[in-house]
Amino acid sequence: MFDLLKLRIRHGKQAIPDIRKAKVMEAFRGFPIIDETRSWNGGVGCKEICPTGAIDVNPLRIDLGKCIFCGECEKFSDGAIKFSNQYRLGSSKRESLVIASSKIFEEFDNTAIEAKKEIHKLFGRSLKLRQVSAGGCNGCELELNAASNVNFDMGRFGIDFVASPRHADGVVITGPISSNMAPALKDAYNSISEPKIVIAVGACAISGGLFADSNQINRKFFDEVPVNLFIPGCPPHPFTFIHALLDFLGK
Ligand code: SF4
Repeated sequence: MFDLLKLRIRHGKQAIPDIRKAKVMEAFRGFPIIDETRSWNGGVGCKEICPTGAIDVNPLRIDLGKCIFCGECEKFSDGAIKFSNQYRLGSSKRESLVIASSKIFEEFDNTAIEAKKEIHKLFGRSLKLRQVSAGGCNGCELELNAASNVNFDMGRFGIDFVASPRHADGVVITGPISSNMAPALKDAYNSISEPKIVIAVGACAISGGLFADSNQINRKFFDEVPVNLFIPGCPPHPFTFIHALLDFLGK
């Protein structure tokens, strides 16, 4: 037992102290900086190479809800597209995820998530979430798991994942919603008592991602249920998830 205590003392505090000021490595692909004037063909080559149809041209823009951050477009853009390492990508409005050259990160960061008083009042001190992997590859699920580990320690903000939807205030959806998982997702959602929130995490959940054209997915859930928070990425970094939730909760 004393050995264990000694080990614990040696480890010290492992949680990232000020998560709001945390930085990620330079190579991380986050918010894209778009400068259409640098592209000789308006970004047509990028549009062709994008595996998820996230790029549109005239004007050149990237839909972060579809983007898997593979970086291929950056190579073919003649400098028109450059991914910064800004990881705060969450938005409460789907349309805000479409980034054009006129949009700078600071503007996006200040407006993408609307902190509502009633959400802060209801869930500001405690938010319990049920995660449903609706055909996910386990990438997003792994990062969500990391959000609760000793480093990111999301629990310090009163945000936790729970095992039962009956104990939850909202559902976190990952994966494109396979036909097999569509009824299970609906069941989980229906089992959560009102008021409840819906969070779509990752390109697959937001838009279908790489599987958008598959006949094995069933996304009717989103026709019936509005999404409160979109968190892009493939998968999103735990910081992206935690920051989006803190902004959403007005913390
Ligand atoms: S980084 Fe995003 S926008 Fe660029 S090619 Fe990959 S998926 Fe498409």
